[in-house]
Amino acid sequence: MNILIIDDSPLIRAILTRTLTPIGTPHAPDTLDGARRALGFGTGQSEIDVVLLDLEMPECDGLTFLGQLRAQAHLQDLSVIMVTSTQEAERLDDAFAAGANDYVTKPTQDGVLRARTLNAARLTRALRAAKLRERDLAALNARLEQLSLTDALTGLANRRAFDEQYARVLALAARSEVTSALILGDIDLFKRYNDLLGHPAGDACLQAVADVLRGACRRATDQVARYGGEEFALLLIDTDLSGAQRVAARVHQLLAEAALPHPDHPLGRVTLSLGVALTGGADLKQEADQALYRAKAQGRNCTAVAAPPHY
Ligand code: GH3
Ligand code: MG
Ligand code: MG
Ligand code: MG
Repeated sequence: MNILIIDDSPLIRAILTRTLTPIGTPHAPDTLDGARRALGFGTGQSEIDVVLLDLEMPECDGLTFLGQLRAQAHLQDLSVIMVTSTQEAERLDDAFAAGANDYVTKPTQDGVLRARTLNAARLTRALRAAKLRERDLAALNARLEQLSLTDALTGLANRRAFDEQYARVLALAARSEVTSALILGDIDLFKRYNDLLGHPAGDACLQAVADVLRGACRRATDQVARYGGEEFALLLIDTDLSGAQRVAARVHQLLAEAALPHPDHPLGRVTLSLGVALTGGADLKQEADQALYRAKAQGRNCTAVAAPPHY
């Protein structure tokens, strides 16, 4: 228990130190700057659990000092007991208004002083512990939130995150002129890949394809998601047809450069078929899916765009 005694009188400091030694470690600096150091003004670090603060000091009024103390972010929960020789109700009101937790009157009664100091220090510690628990919980929640929106295999956004972003994209399109694009991708002939090389190799391939897709998206607002088993979705906010086609072309290009070997593919490497659709139609997902189907029918490793009329 670290107790900080702030008083201009050396005699009072000595008396309080002696009285409080049985319940903790009193610190009684002989200057206000010494008190500020102990409280970590400037460093934000302090081991003090409770402060006994003289209300009447010549150099700096106790209330003024209390105001400085409470202005420190790390001292919000620190218990402060005012020590006063006045019983003047107005002064005490001011002290509580300035953030004091309690007061004792001089001359102090040893037992009462010890009990109140101990209680005040315990309050500080309880509040600090609660704040730490709160911080741990917040960090844990953020982590869980992150996990619940991430696909474990690829690290991409998962289907749930996609659904949320999809709703945002539709809402944006409904209330503005902003056009967004959806690209659905499906790995070509991936069943053969798995059948020949096994599921673990298939999973590694999915991770490599995910890296390619991530690399193909340049904007912070682009979302790459694992849509299903070997199907991916790119949601490109505020992107028109030519922009979406550029991203799709980049996907094919980067995949060709990655040259992931596929033992039973006419090209000998892993390829994707892509279907592109824009907001403004009747059903964005369905339109992208139909376009993807056409890309497959057209021979795979290509991009098909949803039929106009709306764009
Ligand atoms: P297409 O070019 O027409 O898309 O042919 P395909 O063989 O890729 O399509 P199909 O839908 O017939 O098969 C998809 C296969 O993808 C089935 C399965 O072997 C594989 N697959 C789906 N999800 C996963 C997964 O999570 N991990 C692995 N390793 N393979 C998966
Ligand atoms: Mg004094
Ligand atoms: Mg598929
Ligand atoms: Mg496939």
